[in-house]
Amino acid sequence: MKHLLTINGLDGPLARILGCDCGRCADPTRQAHTSASLISQNEQGETIHHILFDLGLGVAESVLANPHLQGSRARLDWLCLSHWHPDHTAGMNHLIVSHHAHSKRSGLNLPPLPVWCRPGTAEWLQRHHDFELTLCQLHTTGDNEPPGTLLPALPIALPGVTITPVTVAHYNADHGADGTRPRYCCAAFVIKTAVTKTVLLWDIDSSNDWLVTPQNEAQAAAVAQLAQADYLFVDTTFWQARPKITSHPSFSNVQRYAANLQPRRTFLLHLSGHPDGRGNPGWGWHNGRWQTEAQQVWHHKELPGTVHVPAIGDTFCLA
Ligand SMILES: [Zn+2]
Ligand SMILES: [Zn+2]
Repeated sequence: MKHLLTINGLDGPLARILGCDCGRCADPTRQAHTSASLISQNEQGETIHHILFDLGLGVAESVLANPHLQGSRARLDWLCLSHWHPDHTAGMNHLIVSHHAHSKRSGLNLPPLPVWCRPGTAEWLQRHHDFELTLCQLHTTGDNEPPGTLLPALPIALPGVTITPVTVAHYNADHGADGTRPRYCCAAFVIKTAVTKTVLLWDIDSSNDWLVTPQNEAQAAAVAQLAQADYLFVDTTFWQARPKITSHPSFSNVQRYAANLQPRRTFLLHLSGHPDGRGNPGWGWHNGRWQTEAQQVWHHKELPGTVHVPAIGDTFCLA
């Protein structure tokens, strides 16, 4: 069996701003979203399993266009959500309805789509959005574990693959749907095959210092699970670190995470050109500039492995 990880999206999670004259907003190049498909194929090259991680705006269209999911290869076995924020869930109805129609037309009469998320995210989806949840079967694990907790592996039936959620902190996503706080709603994912480890570490805020200096045994176990990845995909929104906690990490934070987690290849996602502010490094940078600047720092500081900015459709063979 072969397992492929493809980066999805028709544009990044942070929108271009109407009328903005920065280089990023002027650049017509589409950008990868924080979304990935884990597509498993048999010896004949047939797609036999598909797990989708996050479903922001444009992701459904890119999934529908994926050559490994065309025609008789089309399938969706699981949807895993890192959290409820709209830039990670806005495409849900589109793909869920499409999946349901495929099920009916093909005569497969598939069961409701299994969706994994944390209980706090499930509450947000149920209470505050008009999602087609009757077409889904929600699977949640645990309750309100603090950042840096390993959760039980997902109940997927995919031989040789384990997917372990790890709780993370992510700013206002950690509000409860009923107004309580904190209600930890967010998870990163560790995908292990027989030969590779891949970490999807998004969205996180800049307070997740347990990634660098774990404070207890649970956090140390979580760091061990996240460490030594062949592929680390990490949320990077700011270029410069801020004195206050920010909703997403800066590239300075990411350097510290990488120095401790020692990934072989680091990929920056959730990039922006605006939060650092006009006139500052990071302002108006498109993805090519982000990659060039990040690689210079990586080389200069002798950080582990390599750093890249992935493009839509980039595909990695995990086994
Ligand atoms: Zn978010
Ligand atoms: Zn996001």
